[in-house]
Amino acid sequence: MSGAMKSMIYLDYNATAPIRENVIAAVAGAMATVGNPSSVHGMGRAARAKVEEARAQVAALANARPRDVVFCASGTEASNTVIRGAGAKSLILSPIEHDCVRAAAKESGLPVFKLKVNAHGVVDLADLAQKLEEAPKPALVSVMLANNEMGTIEPVAEIAEIAHAHGALVHTDAVQAAGKMMLDRKALGADYLTLSAHKIGGPQGVGAIILAPTAPLKALIPGGGQELSRRSGTENVAGIAGFGVAALECMADIGRMAELGAMRDRIEREVKAYGNDVVIVGEGAPRLPNTICIAMPGVKGETQVMHFDLNGICVSSGSACSSGKVKVSHVLTAMGYGADVAEASIRISLGYGTKESDVDAFLKAWTSLYDRIRSRR
Ligand code: PLP
Repeated sequence: MSGAMKSMIYLDYNATAPIRENVIAAVAGAMATVGNPSSVHGMGRAARAKVEEARAQVAALANARPRDVVFCASGTEASNTVIRGAGAKSLILSPIEHDCVRAAAKESGLPVFKLKVNAHGVVDLADLAQKLEEAPKPALVSVMLANNEMGTIEPVAEIAEIAHAHGALVHTDAVQAAGKMMLDRKALGADYLTLSAHKIGGPQGVGAIILAPTAPLKALIPGGGQELSRRSGTENVAGIAGFGVAALECMADIGRMAELGAMRDRIEREVKAYGNDVVIVGEGAPRLPNTICIAMPGVKGETQVMHFDLNGICVSSGSACSSGKVKVSHVLTAMGYGADVAEASIRISLGYGTKESDVDAFLKAWTSLYDRIRSRR
């Protein structure tokens, strides 16, 4: 982190995780080497070696084969490629998917079937079985492994079993799950799993698709046939080298998740004890240990984010979208929350650099806002 940013308390790891020092070194080292990974001469082969080393590291993150990893430019591109390139005749999605899946589905022109979720945001498996009967075959089922707004973990292995019994393919967006829980593409039963480097302390602008050996995939971008003709364009050697190091290091973070889970539990316990109208979104479901979604009814999420910012703390509003415009969270709406909660939520996401003193500072700022707002009523 830069000097100015070091004085800020960063609790927005789900937006982007601070880049790791060894990643910066790997990116800088790769940038200093010359060579196109497709060139056959020695310098090209050196660049290729960097890409292949990273491919093995990213594969290991999902217990997959290196040749089943396709590098691309973001988690967004990875999911778009799968949605458009799997050769499906219909799409079955959870309503809490990231916009990159929702928008890709809309643009695909394919019939889209939306699954029901329960009040905790978990997919209804009986509804899945019914939609699989109705949807034109083969269908592609796309359900994220862990949600970015409140961290709920979806039963992807069970979803895949049901989907495969109906001849469907399965995609899981594992962008938020990576580095926070063990990943095994095969055990999950996912034909496609998508990742993004910057959510695990790697560089922004690098993503990957990890696919089952037999899964079909048509390139989204035609061109030079790189990545075994699954994604054209000269590979981002430096970014990919950084992604590899981040993949390696984030696996060690999984051992720290119990510690982050204890911090999450402390935040949730203390805010609930302080305000009896507070809502912890997704509380009843299995969740990532680092993600907390808190609604302070009656106080807009963006007002809360500004208050924390003034107190030197970075968090996200549940209703913010990537373009900076504010819209009500489709995730909370799908879970059945009204505007009073959906517009009043913030996301706090912890990560490898989070300390107990950050939690103290967050709770102090949160209670001061709560007192100020409630004293006006
Ligand atoms: N999927 C999920 C669940 C995300 O949280 C994000 C980023 O917020 C993405 C996909 C998109 O990843 P990228 O920023 O690499 O395009």
